[in-house]
Amino acid sequence: MNLENCPNCGRLFVKNQFRDICDVCYREEEKQFEKVYNYIRKRENRMATMAQVVEATGVEERLIIKFIKSGRLQLANFPNLGYPCSRCGTLIREGKLCAQCTKDLNKQIERMQQEEEKKKEQRQRTVYYTRKEDKKDS
Ligand SMILES: [Zn+2]
Ligand SMILES: [Zn+2]
Repeated sequence: MNLENCPNCGRLFVKNQFRDICDVCYREEEKQFEKVYNYIRKRENRMATMAQVVEATGVEERLIIKFIKSGRLQLANFPNLGYPCSRCGTLIREGKLCAQCTKDLNKQIERMQQEEEKKKEQRQRTVYYTRKEDKKDS
């Protein structure tokens, strides 16, 4: 048995692969999910943005994002729903970063690797030259 404090309310509960919060909070979350789901599944609310859903349902944005990330809220039918990219704040619908930031980050990593390579080459060259001079001297 894996006893832990609920990250939401601090109650002790038995943690398992399906629950990362206690029973009370889980039930509360279910209720919140129903609210969000009942709201956005209405045809007239399909185009709602995150702000509109939060306002209409009273459910915290943090929780709605959790529903999206856990895959319970499928975004395919809701073109305006999403959450901010953790780097620039652009609305995204999966992962942590928007496409642009992912590209930027990859470029940065590439550049860093290239510089690393260059440094390595320089180091090897220096070693080579010093060795050569060593030989000349002796
Ligand atoms: Zn709890
Ligand atoms: Zn971004």
